[in-house]
Amino acid sequence: MEHVDVAVVGAGYAGLAAALELSAAGRSVVVLEAADRVGGRVWTREEDGVRIDHGGQWVGPAQTAFLRWADRFGCARFPTYDAGTHLELWPGSPPLPHTSGSHPAEHDSAAYDALVGRLDALAARVDPERPEACPDLAAWDSRTVEDWLLAATDSPDARRRMRLVVQGLWACEPRDLSLFHLLFYVAAGGGLGPLLGTRGGAQDSRLVDGADAPARAAAAALGDVVRLGTAVTRVEWSDDGVLLATDGGPVRARRAIVTATPPAQARIAFAPMLPVSRRRWLARSPMGDVAKVHVTYERPFWRERGLSGQVTTYDGSAVAYTFDNSPADEACGVIAAFVYADDYRTWSVQPAETRRKAVLDVLGVLGPEAGEPTGYLERLWSDDPWAEGAYAAVPSPGTWAEHAAGRREPVGPLHWAGTETAGIGNGYVDGAIRSGERAAAEVLAALG
Ligand SMILES: Cc1cc2nc3c(=O)[nH]c(=O)nc-3n(C[C@H](O)[C@H](O)[C@H](O)COP(=O)(O)OP(=O)(O)OC[C@H]3O[C@@H](n4cnc5c(N)ncnc54)[C@H](O)[C@@H]3O)c2cc1C
Repeated sequence: MEHVDVAVVGAGYAGLAAALELSAAGRSVVVLEAADRVGGRVWTREEDGVRIDHGGQWVGPAQTAFLRWADRFGCARFPTYDAGTHLELWPGSPPLPHTSGSHPAEHDSAAYDALVGRLDALAARVDPERPEACPDLAAWDSRTVEDWLLAATDSPDARRRMRLVVQGLWACEPRDLSLFHLLFYVAAGGGLGPLLGTRGGAQDSRLVDGADAPARAAAAALGDVVRLGTAVTRVEWSDDGVLLATDGGPVRARRAIVTATPPAQARIAFAPMLPVSRRRWLARSPMGDVAKVHVTYERPFWRERGLSGQVTTYDGSAVAYTFDNSPADEACGVIAAFVYADDYRTWSVQPAETRRKAVLDVLGVLGPEAGEPTGYLERLWSDDPWAEGAYAAVPSPGTWAEHAAGRREPVGPLHWAGTETAGIGNGYVDGAIRSGERAAAEVLAALG
C-alpha cells in the first residue's frame, strides 16, 4: 500500500494548487483524480484545430491568484472581444443595441441599475473571508432573492434583468438563492459591476492555449504523483490518519484534502460519518444547471457588421447570453452560448435537433450566416459525472444560517478545499486556487 503525508482528492485547480504547495514544502503527496484529465470544471479541447474552453475560461484583473498561475506557467492571455454593438432581445421589438458598460434605456434599465447599487451597498457589509461574522446573516439567509426583488422594485422588467444576472452568475433561479449567499458571493468577487463586466471585469481576458493550460503545466510539474482515472470511493479516518479506497488500490495518508464539488463529495463514503454540519452543508449545496454551447463559423462575420457577438435575451429564448469566443488568431469565428436553470431544464430534454435550432435561432440576429455553422458543440454540465453541475454549488436558503460550521472547518485529518470553500474568488478558478493554498497551509501547520 502507498503511504504519503497528504492525499489530495481531485486534480482541478484547487487540488493542483494544494499539491504544489505541499510538495514545495517537502511533503510527500498524491493527487487522486477520478477523470482521465486534469482541470475539473475547466476543460479545454482541441476541436477541428481550435481550442475550445467547454468550462471556465475568463480571467479578470482582480483574480490575482489565477493571473499569478498564468504568469508562473508562461500562459499568454488576450483580451475578450468586446468591440462593437451588443444586442438585447425583448418580446415584440427589434433587437436593442447598446455598448459595453451601458444598457438600452428601454425596459427600465434605470430601475435595474438602482437594484445593482442597492445590492452592492448591502454586499459591502459582508467580509468574504469572515462571512459568518456578518450580523445580518440569519435575516438575509432567510430570504430568497426572488422575495427581495419583489419587495425592492415594482418593475417587472428590472426584475427580469436581475433574473438574468442570477442565471448568468449562479446558473439558478432567484428563488433558489438566498439574499445572503448572493451578497457573500458579490463581496467575494469585488462587486456586481466587476463580476458582470468584460473589460476590467471578470470576463476581461482569455488564455491563448486554453484555460486549462496552467492546470496541465502544474500537473506536469507534479509528475507521476497525479493519478488519473482514480476515483476515491471511501475514506476511513481517525486521529492516526486516513485510509482512502480508490479505483487504483488503497492509499494511506496522514492527512487528506478533498476538493470535489459538494454533490461529488457526498457520494464518497466517509467512515466514521462526518459531523452533521458538514453532511447538511454538502446535502444542501446543489450545483447550478448550465450548458455551454459553442457554434463555430469560417470567420467572425458579425464583426464585419459592427456587432460584438454579445446577445442578451429577455424574450423567452432558451439561450440567455452569447459571447464572441473566437481564438486569439481569429482563424475562425466562435460563439459561446449559455443556457441556464429553468430554461436548461426545458431545453436540455428536447431532441438534439430542437436544441440546436433554439441556439441557432438566437444567433440569427448576428446575420444570415449564423444558420450555416461549421460546427456545433454542446457541453451539458449538469450531466458531468464528477461535477454534477456548474459553475459552482449554491447553498439553498437557510444553509448558511444553520450549517456554516460545515463549510470548511477541518474534521480530524480531513481538510476541505475547492472553489466552494473560498472567500475571495468564490465560484471562480481564482477562488479554487486560493482554497487549495489555504488548505495546504492548514495541513502544513497540522503536520508541524
Ligand atoms: C461552463 C462553465 C463556465 C465557467 N466560467 C468560468 C470563468 O469564466 N472563469 C472562472 O474563473 N471560473 C469559471 N467557471 C468556474 C470554474 O471552472 C470553477 O470555479 C473551478 O474550475 C473549480 O475548481 P475546483 O478545483 O474547485 O473544482 P473542480 O474543477 O470541480 O475539481 C474537482 C476535481 O475533483 C474530481 N473528483 C470528483 N469526485 C472525485 C472522486 N470521488 N475521486 C477523485 N476525484 C474526484 C473531479 O473530476 C475534478 O477534477 C466556470 C465553470 C463552468 C463549468
